[in-house]
Amino acid sequence: MKFESVIGLEVHAQLKTKTKIFCNCSTAFGAPPNTHTCPVCLGMPGVLPVLNKKVVEYTIRMAIATNCTVAGQSRFARKNYFYPDLPKGYQISQYELPIAQFGYIDIEMNGDKKRIGITRIHMEEDAGKLSHDPNRPVSMVDFNRTGVPLMEIVSEPDIRSPEEAGAYLRQLRSVVRYLGICDGNMEEGSFRCDANVSVMPMGSETFGTRTELKNLNSFKHVEKAIQFEIERQKEVIGDGGQVIQETRLWDPVKNMTTSMRGKEDAHDYRYFPDPDLLPLVIDEEWVNTVKSALPELPDEKKARFVREFDLPSYDAGVLTSVREIADYFEECLKVFPKAKPVSNWVMGSLLGLLNAEGKSIENSPVAARDLGGLLKLIDEDVISGKIAKTVFDEMAKTGKPPKVIVEEKGLVQVTDVSAIESVVSEVISRCPKEVEGYKAGKKKLLGFFVGQVMKETKGKANPKIVNEILREKLEV
Ligand code: ADP
Ligand code: MG
Ligand code: ZN
Repeated sequence: MKFESVIGLEVHAQLKTKTKIFCNCSTAFGAPPNTHTCPVCLGMPGVLPVLNKKVVEYTIRMAIATNCTVAGQSRFARKNYFYPDLPKGYQISQYELPIAQFGYIDIEMNGDKKRIGITRIHMEEDAGKLSHDPNRPVSMVDFNRTGVPLMEIVSEPDIRSPEEAGAYLRQLRSVVRYLGICDGNMEEGSFRCDANVSVMPMGSETFGTRTELKNLNSFKHVEKAIQFEIERQKEVIGDGGQVIQETRLWDPVKNMTTSMRGKEDAHDYRYFPDPDLLPLVIDEEWVNTVKSALPELPDEKKARFVREFDLPSYDAGVLTSVREIADYFEECLKVFPKAKPVSNWVMGSLLGLLNAEGKSIENSPVAARDLGGLLKLIDEDVISGKIAKTVFDEMAKTGKPPKVIVEEKGLVQVTDVSAIESVVSEVISRCPKEVEGYKAGKKKLLGFFVGQVMKETKGKANPKIVNEILREKLEV
């Protein structure tokens, strides 16, 4: 039997506000345990939550960016369950009236666009963090994270493969980063994802039973876990069994998912509207204000890069995947306004360098202005493209501007015809055998001569002139 897989993702994005969602405790990461706490986030009786306006504003940003409808009125609800990291015994979340619904984002798979529906976006508070002592039968809890604002983005079950899930997640992360509302770091947990996976016979109209996968803290793990789960479910059904609705945990060491617990249903949580919080009213004016202050988003920027700079779609996609890379690219263009060579250097040498050094573009050892300057030197025939690579490496090492390096190291390209001519003559007289071969028809030997001249001039001779002179002298 042939199967089709169905995937829906629930993404939790930690919002980059200074204070928590219902109290004014700091959200700063890394403080000593339980120092960022107060009676509200510790769940003391008799205290009242006060909604952080920034959390709402950030969520509205996301709602607009993902084409959702922002609800004029939404509600907070209590999701009740007991766990030691949840001091109130309930999590304040949103349930039947979320802040935003009915959106979508577009992803690109091998050049084809695909639309993934966004079911809903809602706000909620994070829980605390448990840690377990490996040497004693003791667990500890840190409530600093309790009440840190989260935005949950639930997708429609529109995703059909692990690769699509990866593309969707990357696109979402790019959007939250562009919006400046979440730092999107999966490894550090500020951008988390649960994956719902089911399989059904190819062409079927009814979805199969789904399992929910947790502990997916990198893009690689998301894709691998979904892949594993699809295969596992196919096997279960192929063997005549049934998939059980449950929550499964991804084990990144064993590369498999294992059953964690039966999946709870919504009614298990006894959701009800939180009586401590008023309905949240958002008027159109607020939405419009947020909308008009939105930055250019990745898709718009990509389309503009193709249109304005005549770049291939692939280049535009890479350059706009991160807002700061796009800014860097445009900064280079101010110095050297030829888009394709700039794109080649940014995507090749620069991203390669950052990757090798594990640095983000904000900390690039080579400034945009200097990369632009380097390309200008090539364009003006001051240095050759080959020498430019050497200069680039030196720029990365020293942070010096390209002009200074070229001068200090004497790398200026030799374009003086008579100087090159004398080197060419010298090379020709030194290699009679090759000259004979060339004249006998082995035209490929030209490359050998070019190489010799370049070696002699330490790569500084202008290759075009070298070629011209060599041909001239060898053809006689
Ligand atoms: P819960 O909180 O119970 O997980 P939600 O409605 O918040 O429920 O999330 C359900 C997620 O599961 C959504 O992303 C949805 O697209 C996805 N989903 C629902 N049914 C299926 C299915 N049969 N196969 C795969 N994914 C599914
Ligand atoms: Mg779920
Ligand atoms: Zn607090």
